[in-house]
Amino acid sequence: MYDPKSLHAEQFIDNDEVLASLEYADRYCNDPAEIDRIIEKAKLCKGLTHREASALLACTLPDRVQAIFELAEKVKKEFYGNRIVLFAPLYLSNYCINSCVYCPYHRQNKHMPRKKLTQEEIAKEVIALQDMGHKRLAIESGEDPVMAPIEYILESIRTIYSINHRNGAIRRVNVNIAATTVDNYRKLKAANIGTYILFQETYNKESYEKLHPAGPKHDYAYHTEAMDRAMEGGIDDVGLGVLFGLDSYRYEFAALLMHAEHLEAVHGVGPHTISVPRVKRAEDIDPNAFDNGIDDGIFAKICACIRLAVPYTGMIISTRESPAVREKVIRLGISQISGASRTSVGGYVEPEPEEDSTNQFYVSDQRTLDEVVNWLMRDGFIPSFCTACYRKGRTGDRFMSICKKGEIQNCCHPNALMTLKEYLEDYASPETKELGNALITRELDNISNAGIREITLRNLKSIEQGQRDFRF
Ligand code: SAM
Repeated sequence: MYDPKSLHAEQFIDNDEVLASLEYADRYCNDPAEIDRIIEKAKLCKGLTHREASALLACTLPDRVQAIFELAEKVKKEFYGNRIVLFAPLYLSNYCINSCVYCPYHRQNKHMPRKKLTQEEIAKEVIALQDMGHKRLAIESGEDPVMAPIEYILESIRTIYSINHRNGAIRRVNVNIAATTVDNYRKLKAANIGTYILFQETYNKESYEKLHPAGPKHDYAYHTEAMDRAMEGGIDDVGLGVLFGLDSYRYEFAALLMHAEHLEAVHGVGPHTISVPRVKRAEDIDPNAFDNGIDDGIFAKICACIRLAVPYTGMIISTRESPAVREKVIRLGISQISGASRTSVGGYVEPEPEEDSTNQFYVSDQRTLDEVVNWLMRDGFIPSFCTACYRKGRTGDRFMSICKKGEIQNCCHPNALMTLKEYLEDYASPETKELGNALITRELDNISNAGIREITLRNLKSIEQGQRDFRF
């Protein structure tokens, strides 16, 4: 039976409740009165239930769909302003004992060369990332308790934080590794990680078990309950996501929001971020082999409806998506994007061709970080390298309460400008630097609080003079 407060996966992601939500959505999706009621509720920026959001997602009334997109854009502006936080993935190891049918790391894949970075190789990758200007990483690893045990992950995190090349520093390491024990989550917390990210892949238990036929990841409950263990282990920022294309997108969407509601009901804090990956081509993987692929229009609608359902949750889009798709959805609610990503093990030092590579998937946005930063600014966004939520302890429920009150602008906006300034001084091309400095001048005028504006101005000057010991 459905119980958002239960700690059992099959109760907080109750299959009958998902199906009942889809029925509700079918019944009301084109009922103008009910859709208007939901849109009015969404305007309050206090979120929607999974049933309400499912009805919006299913709505096909052209003027209402238009209103949903417009409102998502407005809510995004209200909560996140025009800042977009940048990060890069760092692949540590592709050894894997699972058999996920959509992932080229699966253990039956004998073509893929297996690689695990040594600490020296990690240091070189980190230097390459710092030299681009990155400050925030997401480390990625296949699941292999022998080749990549938790001790290896922890040592790698220590290495990453220890490297300071020129003015470079990685200030936040997010972690995307397989579901693990409370004890291991405690160790990750003690290693000062930022967000723990784990994609559910699919919430449909029957599909999940078919798509993960063997290995520890086969256990639906263990995987689905991972975020509760992470929170029990003291990690208060967790990142959810589903891999769109594996099962019906409407099922995934409703269940994803039920998962968010569950975390809020049990731990008093929802997910820090939601990622929206789609299955991509990779070595040994053909995305067309999956029946539930979604087109760009549906994808954009999903982003817009997530924005309205959980306005206080960051949304992440990776380089799985092309520049054109990223351009379209970014304004509908995305708050973080990856840039200049390499999805192979060791790929920042030695880029690999697509064929016979260790790429986890082929990236669709191949631009350099400078090109991404330049593009964001031309599109009216402020690229931000801020990691302060973690640095200043504004994580978990404290971050949520700041964010829910809409106060995020007062600290995030100045931090975005200052970290952008660091980027411009240290890494940008002359053209990007000129564009960025003009943008910073304009955006400073938009800080209404005179005191905050004054401090920001002072810090910007110090950055220009070479000071780099800020903790954003
Ligand atoms: N091994 C960890 C786990 O099991 O969760 C880490 C995850 S893996 C390095 C990162 C994510 O990439 C997976 O959770 C999956 O959603 C995604 N992924 C795998 N194969 C993919 C593909 N062909 N296209 C797009 N994303 C893929």
